[in-house]
Amino acid sequence: MNAITSRLALGGAAAIAAVSVAACSTSPSSPSASGDSSKAGGGTSSSSAQGAAEGGSAKAGGAAVQVVAAENFWGSIASQLGGSHVKVTSIIDNPSADPHDYEPTAADARTVAGARLAIVNGIGYDSWAGKLLSANPAQDRTDLEVGKLAGIPANGNPHRWYSPDNVHQVVEQITADYKKIDPADAADFDQLKNTFENTTLAPYTKEIADIRATYAGTPVGASESIFAPLAQGLGLDLVTPESFLDAISEGTDPTAKDKTTIDRQIAEKKIKVYVYNSQNATPDVQAQVKAAKAKGIPVATVTETLTPAGASFQDWQVRQLKGIQAALAKATGK
Ligand SMILES: [Zn+2]
Repeated sequence: MNAITSRLALGGAAAIAAVSVAACSTSPSSPSASGDSSKAGGGTSSSSAQGAAEGGSAKAGGAAVQVVAAENFWGSIASQLGGSHVKVTSIIDNPSADPHDYEPTAADARTVAGARLAIVNGIGYDSWAGKLLSANPAQDRTDLEVGKLAGIPANGNPHRWYSPDNVHQVVEQITADYKKIDPADAADFDQLKNTFENTTLAPYTKEIADIRATYAGTPVGASESIFAPLAQGLGLDLVTPESFLDAISEGTDPTAKDKTTIDRQIAEKKIKVYVYNSQNATPDVQAQVKAAKAKGIPVATVTETLTPAGASFQDWQVRQLKGIQAALAKATGK
């Protein structure tokens, strides 16, 4: 029902290679995601050299720490923080799969059973992943649940990878977990984290700071709750009714009242920019995009998961941030 097939051709929007899907729906999952680490976006790294001297480490022959991430945005980060010491498999690694209601395969269960570190988002986003962990208990596995780490209530906004603060928190925790699991390589993990935070994420951090410095307080509209943590991180004033943002994210019907409110915000140009999830462009969202463009309100896009599938977390986020910045610049002349 929510398998939206008509992607909008938007002149001002970033070109998105992803096929269109209902990324935030409650419809049955598309069948195409798999646990095949060979196509996990940035999710796989080579194992360390066989036979490397590992001293008293419990690892046999310096084998890489097996890591499973429920979603590839966390998997991309975990892979970069672990370097050659880890092998990361991301379960949701396909832009046409819907993380909200994915159904795990037998291969996913095997991946979880063999993992030393499991990273799940939580907050109701990937309850299938939580079940997978419970069904495959392991004495020596560390489970990292992002929602718990960030202190988000069960009914809170699950899209924590769109919160810059939470991203940094997760980086810290993954590194701490790696050092606990593989203490012999602790110094390397610290080094990898420093590089990731100070070099790899530098364009991401700078883009956020630049947007905040120039456009803080600017009223903007969005199609769904996925944009809310980023709007907060950017200091933007997201004026779309929260109940509408949640409805689109959760695949339920938005109210007529909310739609009227948004139509008025667009007609009266109360929003400077409209940001929508191009993987979840429902007919209501498409209508808002069209109305915004007709009013000369610049439109920018975000996606649910790494787009294209092989992108790194930072390249994906920076590209989206640049799109938002360009829309804000066009709208405000700043
Ligand atoms: Zn979502």
